Amino acid sequence: KIYHSLRPITPLPPLTTPLSITDYLFPDLNSSPPPPTTAAAAALIDATTRRRISFSDFARRIQTLTSSLQNRLHLSKGDTAFILSPNSLHIPILHFSLLSLGVVVSPSNPASTKPEIARQIHLIKPVIAFATSETAAKIPSLRYGTVLLESPEFESLMTRPTTGDNNKQRVTVNQSDTATILYSSGTTGRVKGVELTHRNWISVVAGVFTERELRSSPAVTLCPVPFFHVYGMGLFMRELAMGHSVVVCTGARFDLTAVMRAIEEFRVTHVALAPPIAVAMAKGNVMDGYDLRSLEVVACGGAPLQRSVLVKFKERFPNLQLAQAYGLTEVTGRVIGTVGLKECGVVGATGKLLSNSEAKIVDPDTGIGLPPMMPGELWLRGPSVMKGYVGDAAATTEILGSDGWLRTGDLCYFDNEGFLFFVERIKELIKYKGYQVAPAELEYLLHSHPEVSDVAVAPYPDEEVGQLPMAFIVRHNGSTIDEPQIMDFVAKQVAPYKRIRRVMFVDMIPKNAPGKVLRKELIKLALSKATSK
Ligand code: AMP
Repeated sequence: KIYHSLRPITPLPPLTTPLSITDYLFPDLNSSPPPPTTAAAAALIDATTRRRISFSDFARRIQTLTSSLQNRLHLSKGDTAFILSPNSLHIPILHFSLLSLGVVVSPSNPASTKPEIARQIHLIKPVIAFATSETAAKIPSLRYGTVLLESPEFESLMTRPTTGDNNKQRVTVNQSDTATILYSSGTTGRVKGVELTHRNWISVVAGVFTERELRSSPAVTLCPVPFFHVYGMGLFMRELAMGHSVVVCTGARFDLTAVMRAIEEFRVTHVALAPPIAVAMAKGNVMDGYDLRSLEVVACGGAPLQRSVLVKFKERFPNLQLAQAYGLTEVTGRVIGTVGLKECGVVGATGKLLSNSEAKIVDPDTGIGLPPMMPGELWLRGPSVMKGYVGDAAATTEILGSDGWLRTGDLCYFDNEGFLFFVERIKELIKYKGYQVAPAELEYLLHSHPEVSDVAVAPYPDEEVGQLPMAFIVRHNGSTIDEPQIMDFVAKQVAPYKRIRRVMFVDMIPKNAPGKVLRKELIKLALSKATSK
């Protein structure tokens, strides 16, 4: 049983036409300026400093930076650029410029530690990095060095065309070329580099031109989700191509009050969030005193939103559309979503298949496709499915079949109207505030501790953050290591969002016959201990 998208087919350009995602989204960038109505409007607004970049300036900066990258930094097609920065106005301009040259863009979480970055660099072998003065020290030396995004040098690369060589030399970028490498642990194991092509990106943004015609007034979209994640990257691509203003939440830390202030100040109409912010909006009084009347749509994706939260949210904001989106890095982000008031009203549904995608619900034991209302593993197929994990053929074949089906590791079902309902994650992945935490990575670290004899890391449910990474530890005989010591040992080596936040000492780690850790049993045990306290 194959589920097809019920939405109208969005035509894609012929695969053989050379086309970068930048040229697809901004076909007039090099030939004609934006129409006067859009030219003066803000493309990008910094929510903290209030700095604005108009659409005409945005287009000019991409043009100039593209030629600077080529002529002054000597980047060429097939090179890889590593990016380590919190959200800023520079990031979309940098991404579009690199992508138009066929340079592979690989952004990482700026909170990553030095060893985490070293592993990513080893995987993707970049020639250059773009970073901030706070993150640059974590990057090893590269062939063309590290450019600081807030430096006068970078400003000059974007704004000062060099005489004589300021024209971009023609580069043929094929749709099948790799555009980005993002990081994900997939269904199992440690972090891997997800190779997404220009075609993958074109297929997920392909609806923008029709959507642009449907929206009556220009939107102002607030983006507190990180640009290094597939969710944030897809969002700024889509919104800017539609001519919408993107208000960028800059700075390394998310601040709920700043989000509310930005909605009021910039008359934001759309905001894209991960569940923790929706939870805070539904439960708390964070919005009191702010004028949020401009807000029309709150989009939420990246992790499940509990029904109780949805109900509370709808009670508090009856006039707001709470749009849900389901996706994965491995399928270039959102492939299932709710569109429009009616679909957004279906409580618990993550949405319907978007254009051009197909799905199957597969019984994990028998491999048989299941009919509506029966839960099984969600498999996805379509033009947005990744090329593979960079340099890791074994991990690629584990998740992606030769027939094009990608196994998501998520237990879901479709109802009779084509709405997808997410049941639970069956893969070994923890989502803390929408960020991926790979149990295998933390287990690997904890195994290296001399007092740990065996260990398992599993997701402990939490309404506010989704899931907490919890460690179950078997101590060596005679060891007295305690919870704070375990937490501290991990915290010193990983980005903050990956920290162990609960510990339980056990006599043994339950495993099935082939030796697979029974994480659900461990969580059951932890929950029963917590309730009996
Ligand atoms: P990432 O690659 O970081 O986007 O993570 C993908 C995973 O996040 C999916 O396989 C799901 O487990 C989870 N996820 C994403 N969106 C949703 C959603 N709307 N509801 C439930 N889980 C989601």
